[in-house]
Formats: sequence, structure tokens, C-alpha cells
Amino acid sequence: MKYNVIILGAGPAGLSAAVYMARANISTLVLGLPDGSRASWAHNIENYLGFPDGVSGKEFKERSVAQAKKFGAVIVEEEVIASNYSENGGFYVETSKENRYEADFLILALGLSVKPSGVKNEVEYIGKGVSYCSTCDGFFYKDRPVVVIGNKDLAAKEALDLVPFASKITVVSHEKKFEMSENFLNKLKLNNADLVTGKALEIVGDNEKVNGVLMDNNEIIAADGVFFALGNMGSLDIARFLGIEINEKSKAVLVDKSMRTNIPGIYAAGDCTGEPYQVSTAVGEGAIAALEIIHEIRNKKG
Ligand SMILES: Cc1cc2nc3c(=O)[nH]c(=O)nc-3n(C[C@H](O)[C@H](O)[C@H](O)COP(=O)(O)OP(=O)(O)OC[C@H]3O[C@@H](n4cnc5c(N)ncnc54)[C@H](O)[C@@H]3O)c2cc1C
Repeated sequence: MKYNVIILGAGPAGLSAAVYMARANISTLVLGLPDGSRASWAHNIENYLGFPDGVSGKEFKERSVAQAKKFGAVIVEEEVIASNYSENGGFYVETSKENRYEADFLILALGLSVKPSGVKNEVEYIGKGVSYCSTCDGFFYKDRPVVVIGNKDLAAKEALDLVPFASKITVVSHEKKFEMSENFLNKLKLNNADLVTGKALEIVGDNEKVNGVLMDNNEIIAADGVFFALGNMGSLDIARFLGIEINEKSKAVLVDKSMRTNIPGIYAAGDCTGEPYQVSTAVGEGAIAALEIIHEIRNKKG
């Protein structure tokens, strides 16, 4: 089934959009984990209108989910690992459960994407071998060795996307073990990827291009490309896949006042569009994105 709209993220931005979409009777799928919303972690939210005594993040999350569901929004708690243009028109979204969903419109509402790696020289080598998107840059590493830093499904996906190109793939987990699904782990092994646990300390190179990664055991893993894929896929990762403009300095998806990105059909809302990082702005931006899409859909129908 193709939905009218897929909302990526089940925090205040995504669920606010979902309430508007569902009440307008537009088929809407929310993909996200309500427990992963930063608002759900708040001890007490005191600056959101309508709660004079404040509301715990947990209660706010439960009420928001209930409200979206009440009007018919479908919320599927799956981790998003990829999104791209569909051959049927519109867009598709893939999850780590290997499900694929399609829609004419997307709203990116995956929250903040700040995942500092702590690896020295990461920023210095951006564009000189450091990358965040294998779909975008994999081609440049034909027959060359690469390292992927990360230990979840996102890292697995990035590494597997590099299989047709790279001569050797090493996946480095900063944690003691890999936390990706069994299926991904098996696929990596089948494709002869090296799975290494340990801390990557520094990107090494000649200032113009990357040569490798210095590990905490003093070994250097030779690599021409280093792909960072820490944590789960965030709004910025998805944006890069789809060619959406980003402000790299403030780590924000660029939108106009209607919450439109530069790609027709894709909107963004909430923390992923930059400061202020507040529940009220996330809710407002989700509403604006939804209203714009409802308007677009109704205009098309004439
Ligand atoms: C401890 C704390 C206290 C806070 N207190 C307040 C406060 O009192 N008042 C206030 O206004 N603001 C507060 N904030 C800020 C507020 O929580 C955020 O501004 C707000 O949650 C942003 O909403 P959002 O929907 O953009 O993102 P989020 O709430 O972060 O939601 C993002 C959603 O995307 C999902 N997601 C992300 N990646 C994936 C993926 N790959 N696959 C599937 N789903 C994914 C998450 O699971 C989540 O559902 C606080 C933040 C924190 C951390």
C-alpha cells in the first residue's frame, strides 16, 4: 500500500503532524519510536502551554501517542535505516525489520542528529576521505579499502552499500560488541567484512587525503575512505541520501517558512530544523508541515 504521507519520527513534531494529517483523513504512517523522543526523557515539561503544573515527559509522550492514534494515525515502531526515491514515484522508506513503505510525501521529524564521534581529524578530512553517506560517495571508493565507524543497523547498512565498490570493508565498533540485527551481521560476514571492536582515535592522512584510522591498540587500519555511521539514522543522514540541503555548521535541515525542504514533496519539522530545541516549536512546525501538505494534496485533487 502506498500512503499519502510518511512521517519519520514519533516525537512532538512527528505526532503533531500526524494529528493534523489523520484528522484531514489523509492516509498517514508514522515510523518512529515514541520512547526515543527527547521530550519523553524530560523530568517535567513546564513551559508547554496547557499544563500549569507541568507534565512529565513520559505522560506527555503517552498523551501525544494516544491523540494521534485516536484520529487514525498508524504508528509503526520500527527503526528507519534508509529512504530514497521510489521507482513508482514519490519516496520509499526502509526499516531495520526489512520492511519497505512508500508515500508521495515525507515529513522528516527524527529530532537532533548530533553524534560527536570523538575521533581526531574527522572534520579536517571531510571531503578528503571522510564521508557520512555511502549511497552518495561509495562510487569514489571503487577497488579501495574503507572503514565504517559504528555498530548499529545504520553502520551495517552503510557497509553493505559499499560492498559493490570497496576492495576491503572494516567495520569498527566503539562499543564492546556489535548491536546490529542478526540478519545484517550475517550479511556483513558473508561479504567478508572485518568486524573490529576498539576505539578509533584518529583519522590519519597527508592532509589532502585519508590513509587510514589509528586505533587504540596503536594499529592503523589502512583506508582511503572513512564512513561515520554512529548511532541510529538521523534526519541529517536521511537528508544526505535524498539530496536535501543541510546547514552543515548548525547541523540543521534547511527549510522555508512552510517547512518545505529544497526537494518537492519533502518537509522537515522539529529539532532537526535547528534551534530553538523546544517542544512548542516542534509541535508548531509539525502542524505547519502537515497543513501545507494537506493544502497541496487538496489542490492536486482540484
Ligand atoms: C532531558 C530533556 C529535557 C527537555 N525538557 C524540555 C522542556 O522542558 N521543554 C521544552 O520545550 N523542551 C524540552 N526539551 C527539548 C525537547 O524535548 C525537544 O525540543 C523536542 O522533543 C523535539 O521534538 P522532535 O519531535 O523534533 O524530536 P524528538 O522528540 O527527539 O523525536 C524524534 C523522534 O524520531 C525518532 N527517531 C530518530 N531516529 C530514528 C530512526 N532512525 N528510526 C526511527 N525513529 C527514529 C525518535 O525515536 C523519536 O520518536 C528537553 C530535552 C531533553 C533531552
